[in-house]
Amino acid sequence: MSQSSRAAETDVHHASGSGLSTAMRFRELAQRNNALFRESIPLIASENLMSPLAMEMLLSDFGFRYAEGLPGHRYYQGNEIVDQMEELVVELGKKLFNAKQVDPRPISGTIANMGVIYGLTSPGDLIATPALAGGGHISAAEFGAVGFRGLKRVELPFDPETMTVDPAGAASVIRRERPKVVLVGQSVFLFPAPLKEISEAARDTGSPVWYDGAHVLGLIAGKKFQDPLREGAEVITGSTHKTLPGPQHGIAVGNASEDTWKRIQRGMFPGVLSNHHLNTMAALGVTLAEELEFGEKYATDIIRNSQALGEELHSLGFKVLGEKLGFTKSHTIAVDIRAQGGGKLVAETLERCGIILNKNMLPDDDSKKSQNPSGIRIGTPEVTRIGMGPSEMKEIASLIHRAVIKREDPATIRKEAADLKKRFNQVKYCFGKLEAYRYFRLMEE
Ligand SMILES: *Cc1c(COP(=O)(O)O)cnc(C)c1O
Repeated sequence: MSQSSRAAETDVHHASGSGLSTAMRFRELAQRNNALFRESIPLIASENLMSPLAMEMLLSDFGFRYAEGLPGHRYYQGNEIVDQMEELVVELGKKLFNAKQVDPRPISGTIANMGVIYGLTSPGDLIATPALAGGGHISAAEFGAVGFRGLKRVELPFDPETMTVDPAGAASVIRRERPKVVLVGQSVFLFPAPLKEISEAARDTGSPVWYDGAHVLGLIAGKKFQDPLREGAEVITGSTHKTLPGPQHGIAVGNASEDTWKRIQRGMFPGVLSNHHLNTMAALGVTLAEELEFGEKYATDIIRNSQALGEELHSLGFKVLGEKLGFTKSHTIAVDIRAQGGGKLVAETLERCGIILNKNMLPDDDSKKSQNPSGIRIGTPEVTRIGMGPSEMKEIASLIHRAVIKREDPATIRKEAADLKKRFNQVKYCFGKLEAYRYFRLMEE
């Protein structure tokens, strides 16, 4: 018996029985969740896996420390090494995104958005945002961060077939309404946004363009989607755990005037942050370093896979959005699933089959349909991360077809999904080796 397990046993002895067993329940739940994902096909467009070097950072002492403010201007002692770490993250971010400014402090994409909103707007201001029915995120909604700041909003018109902002329509809304800020970027982000036209109109009205790249940050880093800072956006916000395969954290990246950037940074701290979670920031640093090495290949493969999946589902009889543009130029496809029973039924059926994705509102849905929307959203970041390619996308499409259209027995499909998944159990596009979905060695032995 090892020293540590002997120590653990002593603790077991002295602990009050029921408290300990309640605590141990979390281990059991974590193990079961690991096993669930190890055996399932993960197709949630906003999820991904971290690299081994990044994973290590989550367990480091960084996770127990405070560092308010900016490097060199802190409010606590003990930040000497933290400052070096944070400065290195900023430097890597500037290099990866070819950006003048980086703020890696936001602890999620929504917090990054709140910081920008806090910095650049005042209550009562008007903001132009993507339409919710066009794939816009809740943080751009009145019931989300935009409403929290007391902003009024006007929606940018979009093409319902591609869920993409309509360039001429957007330009005319901006020129007519003269919003304080223009926000671009969606949660169902199939094709690049028409930033050139939007930026031109926004220049005329003096409105900064803010690009929410939460979903597509890794594709931008890999230079495979669009280059918002060169197409007129002053600031990009993002989550760092969707197509960028890092920790659950956020970031802001800028090509802004000094004054605008200062206001954004003050929006982050003291606006919406106190401490900013140093272990996830260090994990983000590892991720950025790995993206500089592997990001272009990873982004290429993610997009190739989503296009393959879109084409295959289409040829099997599914109504995949964006047909006229090749279904997708990102990591995401959207499927109109009304003919197969609607988003709720289909997503729940697939879950029973070991295929995990989410139901999603489509342009025709009103808010009453949020619990049973017309669509499903499918993403390829995670299946790509573990090494699946176009031929596996065909296999996945076939499993979806058999589950949803042929209505085969879920147990049979679940078994086949697990067999397929078994062949792909390593995290790729990173330094070092890590068996996916098997992080707690101690727990599982
Ligand atoms: C996911 C997402 C966010 C929020 O990200 P979190 O990191 O979950 O807070 C913001 N904007 C868009 C468009 C998103 O899709």
